[in-house]
Amino acid sequence: MADYAIGVDLGGTNLRAAAITASGTMLEKVGAPTDLSTAETVIRDIVRAIESVRAKLREHRLVGVGIGVPGFIRIAEGLVVGSNNLVCLEGYPVRDRIEQALGAPVILENDANAAALGEKWMGAGRDVEDLVLLTLGTGIGGGIISKGRVLHGFVGMAGELGHLTVAPNGNPCGCGNTGCLEKHASATAIESMAKLLALGDDLTAKDVYDLAVAGNERARRVFESMGQALGVAIAMLINVFNFPLYLMSGGVLAAWDYFYPSLEAEVRRRSYTYRHTETRIEKARLGNEAGIYGAAYLPFQAQQAIFAS
Ligand SMILES: [Zn+2]
Repeated sequence: MADYAIGVDLGGTNLRAAAITASGTMLEKVGAPTDLSTAETVIRDIVRAIESVRAKLREHRLVGVGIGVPGFIRIAEGLVVGSNNLVCLEGYPVRDRIEQALGAPVILENDANAAALGEKWMGAGRDVEDLVLLTLGTGIGGGIISKGRVLHGFVGMAGELGHLTVAPNGNPCGCGNTGCLEKHASATAIESMAKLLALGDDLTAKDVYDLAVAGNERARRVFESMGQALGVAIAMLINVFNFPLYLMSGGVLAAWDYFYPSLEAEVRRRSYTYRHTETRIEKARLGNEAGIYGAAYLPFQAQQAIFAS
């Protein structure tokens, strides 16, 4: 008999749910495709995945469910208010509907916030209480962990670090801003830069990386430029927070040796705090498991908060 929580990571095309104990042991895990046609089909798929995990653990006690969702969350209401990948969920009472279906407490969280919490709990941030995570993918997500907990801001939308301005007149972004970090340092940005430098029209970020490895100077410049944009953003974060640890995750980390030198040089140039402290900038460790760990940790944290009060 063990207490466990279920963490759910809701992606654009599939979802994963796992049962994890308070000490971080994963007991069960399932993956399933997600039908994004309507809010009802998404909710149905989430509930189904959770129930299938729960059915295998009848003798154990479910503490609660945490769900990481790509998008802007209103944390108190359990609402997704904006999401490029999950337009059907916008304004829908996601948390309450899933709670009703399961009869168990549910916590909704932004997926990158959940990943940051996962790294704090079981990954690269275990030895610190404060960290920032940047998830580098087709976009860039961010999560800020302060005193061991997700920093939410007053609504739940803090940590949207992909939309930090790194170039005031830079590329336009879907959020309405220009020069957002994710327009200059995501996998999508790498592909656009490769195109602009006439490396090829339909190259993936991996293709650009392979060219860099093969010694192509223009491909290497793409990663230098990406590193520079990340460095501008991370220097700002260091100057704001003075946290000990800044993490990055995502497939693009394979190109670390090609973007990190320009990133570090930029941070060094722009942050007095970085130059005079032992601030670390490192790779995250849990890969795409981070979100599921972080989501599962949320009900345990909520429980601790109740016991502490
Ligand atoms: Zn933006």
